[in-house]
Amino acid sequence: MLDHDTKQTIQTAYSRFLEQKNLKPRHGQKLMIAAVARTLGNVASDDDGQRVGEEHVCVVEAGTGTGKTVAYALAAIPAAQAQGKKLVISTATVALQEQIVLKDLPDLRKHSGLVFSHTLAKGRGRYACLYKLDFLLAHGGEPETQALYPDERDALLPERTLRLFQILLDALSDSSWDGDRDNWSQAIDNEDWQRLTTDHNQCTGRRCAYVTQCPFFQARENLIDADVIVANHDLVLADLALGGGDDYLLAFTVDASRLEALRDPVASLGLDLHEIGVVVAGSGVSVTTREGGEYRPTRTGFNHFGSDDGE
Ligand code: SF4
Repeated sequence: MLDHDTKQTIQTAYSRFLEQKNLKPRHGQKLMIAAVARTLGNVASDDDGQRVGEEHVCVVEAGTGTGKTVAYALAAIPAAQAQGKKLVISTATVALQEQIVLKDLPDLRKHSGLVFSHTLAKGRGRYACLYKLDFLLAHGGEPETQALYPDERDALLPERTLRLFQILLDALSDSSWDGDRDNWSQAIDNEDWQRLTTDHNQCTGRRCAYVTQCPFFQARENLIDADVIVANHDLVLADLALGGGDDYLLAFTVDASRLEALRDPVASLGLDLHEIGVVVAGSGVSVTTREGGEYRPTRTGFNHFGSDDGE
């Protein structure tokens, strides 16, 4: 059960949020806050910190206008903090991530009185690989594998691209750019970007000579201090597959049309929704379980909170 202080924090935060935004309480939103808080409070662990019991998933169906993000975040942030964990919010689309990171969470922090930090986690592919960038510039654009034939030499990088890479490297060196593609002031062509980013297979990780200055790993360091991390499903599922999840509570936000796409990755990895899954959807939602590979909405509680039920 949630302790008294955490309950009080959630109630006070909701009242303050409504008051400061000049909003009326919404019946569906209140029910949703209570359901999420109750579920999180019921997650029990043994002495080794392993979850015991199966009451760890709350499935929520709530219509547009319910205020779902406010509801689950307002309940889950204090609950996660009380347990010394992070809240990970996993979404399917970049648009939803941006809305949560740039609008919803700052708004909640400003008006609820909750004190928390948040950040967006991105995959390696959004960051420049310093090793590649340096190598390409040092070798005049020649890729790591030596060009043997004239047609391969023709594929060496054009002057324009080399100039761009030099500008990017300079910006990284003087810290005016953090290596995140989205934070560069101009759009970078996909073709150019593919040459200077990397993926899990190519990156040598901690063995890389550039790792201490690596944009991707520096961004990862920033996650350590954040109370709330917003990420996409692929990143979160990959982390769960690698054994992550012990130090966070998880909120999956999906709409029903995208849940189908989520089922196969979850099932193929043999994953349960770990410590806690809060699935938020517009309509027709249900959730998969490890045993069945089939969506079973009744397992730990299926809640429908329409936007118009008593508002
Ligand atoms: S750690 Fe990986 S991504 Fe970073 S610079 Fe090295 S190879 Fe590139």
